[in-house]
Amino acid sequence: METAVKEEIQVKGVAASPGVAHGPAFLFVRKEIEVASYFVPPEKREEQVARLEGALLQIKQQLRVLRCEIEEKLGEKEAQIFDAHQMVLEDKALIDEVEKEIFENGWNIEYAFQTVSNRYVEAFSHIDDDYIKERVADIKDVSRRLLHNLLGQAEMELDNYSGARILVSDDISPSDTVKLDRSRVSALVTDQGSRTSHAVIVARSINVPAVVGLHDITKRVKTGDTVIVDGFEGLVIINPSEQSLFRYGKIRTERQKAQTVYHSNLHLPARTVDGFEVRVMLNVDGSESNDDLKKSGADGIGLFRTENLFLRSATLPSEEEQLRVYRRVAEAMAPFPVTIRTLDIGGDKQISNPIFGHEESNPFMGFRAIRLCLEHVALFKDQLRAILRASAFGRVKIMYPMISSVQELVSANAILEECKRELAAKKIDFDANIPVGSMIEIPGAALAADLLAKHCNFFSIGTNDLIQYTLAVDRVNDRVAHLYEPNHPAIMRLLKMIFDAGKKAGIPVSVCGEMAGDAAYAGLLFGMGAQELSVAGAVLPEIKYFIRNISMSDTAKMVTDVLAQESPEAIAGLLHGYYADHIGARFLGEDRATV
Ligand code: PEP
Ligand code: MG
Repeated sequence: METAVKEEIQVKGVAASPGVAHGPAFLFVRKEIEVASYFVPPEKREEQVARLEGALLQIKQQLRVLRCEIEEKLGEKEAQIFDAHQMVLEDKALIDEVEKEIFENGWNIEYAFQTVSNRYVEAFSHIDDDYIKERVADIKDVSRRLLHNLLGQAEMELDNYSGARILVSDDISPSDTVKLDRSRVSALVTDQGSRTSHAVIVARSINVPAVVGLHDITKRVKTGDTVIVDGFEGLVIINPSEQSLFRYGKIRTERQKAQTVYHSNLHLPARTVDGFEVRVMLNVDGSESNDDLKKSGADGIGLFRTENLFLRSATLPSEEEQLRVYRRVAEAMAPFPVTIRTLDIGGDKQISNPIFGHEESNPFMGFRAIRLCLEHVALFKDQLRAILRASAFGRVKIMYPMISSVQELVSANAILEECKRELAAKKIDFDANIPVGSMIEIPGAALAADLLAKHCNFFSIGTNDLIQYTLAVDRVNDRVAHLYEPNHPAIMRLLKMIFDAGKKAGIPVSVCGEMAGDAAYAGLLFGMGAQELSVAGAVLPEIKYFIRNISMSDTAKMVTDVLAQESPEAIAGLLHGYYADHIGARFLGEDRATV
């Protein structure tokens, strides 16, 4: 009897956690909880509130247990997911609204709670912001838990399967992440989610490949279907053909081999074959443990994105609170330097605080970063004093984001000097010669880099923004993502111009945007004059290894070749060829689809 061969289907999503896996799928989709609505007479409404209070207490206890479980399994950083859940349970506005539904409208507690939580979810779900999306996921997760408790139902759990599987879900809630286990889940694939979803953060920390944002993958895959997940390229292949299976089998083995070699070389210096020593630094957001920092293999921190401290907290963090975090990181990294970037809020990172003003039609070009800090001087000074005070405990540098003119840099420096005077008057220690840097991420700043160089000690190129502003391509808009082209000749020229300006002024230029973390560009950037790149922890071992296999004299030649090209394709071809010649061929064969 003939069996029908299923057709291979390829679906592209967001590459969220690197790695390749293949195996049978397990479909995990939760159904909506059905809640009855009924009228409660006034004399019985207190009872409903008492049930709510009892359920809240029980859930808080359950969450404490889950927190301990995940802390033990994955560490403090991942366990903090449950602090966000406790915050939902303690949200006075939400609880007051539920009580109002009971007392004023007479609804039963289950219906009142579901109505209010749906209202919150609905209000937030139109906001296209990863942080807000996470908070919506938190509210949904906590509401589900509470409704199950009130209804006395057991929850559908993620442990009804055995053997390593490709987990396919609409979305994995933060509570479900406790069940993510390398021995049972070989990859994670979801309809929703982004690179910063909690589940994705956990997946990355336990090295489970993940592809998210696939929209309708749960409708295309059934439990038992064979699936390949390519977490490097963000590709899911359902019912793979023999050729795909063979190709991915090879890629998988080669990538594993490569990672082992990169890691075994992590402790070695980033020295090129012709003896040039450069630095590979780490990008952080303050949530990393001291252990993560110490074991990273980095030569310091080239970009500390401080806005996450502000995004994570319901109120603005005080000078003391910020100092605690900056000091911890400075001490953990000492004697290596730590470059702390001042607040870069705005754009796609919005905080709902009245002082930051109103919705903008074009937030990336609006009230963002240094522009906002120069108007909210008290907030800026709190941060600058915290950074200055941390400089007494390690080698700290300050860096301003989104500088577009000399005037902004001069104004920021004047405020910094004022902070230094205030601390000196109080006899508080700080590094009086703290180096000050300007990010170069606006084309205007790149063109005027020679002028800016007179007012700072270093430049750091933010390629993520530099590309979006130079090519007029919104970096978070899927519809124009194909136009976001790092290989554009205009980008190459601007980069060269910035390095040349730094060299002429005698100040170092580093790169901290995503381009620095792609080995294809690392050689080019060193060839143009970088002495330092700052990259994400996951790619740092590969970048360091790559540097140890290239020679500075080749990279200079590559710069000349690249600058002579007219098309992004030609530039990509040269860069990829160079990568393949130096390490690609050794480990990755011809199958490294992109670099
Ligand atoms: C950049 O723009 O390249 C950068 C490093 O900053 P961010 O991604 O935080 O805007
Ligand atoms: Mg930027």
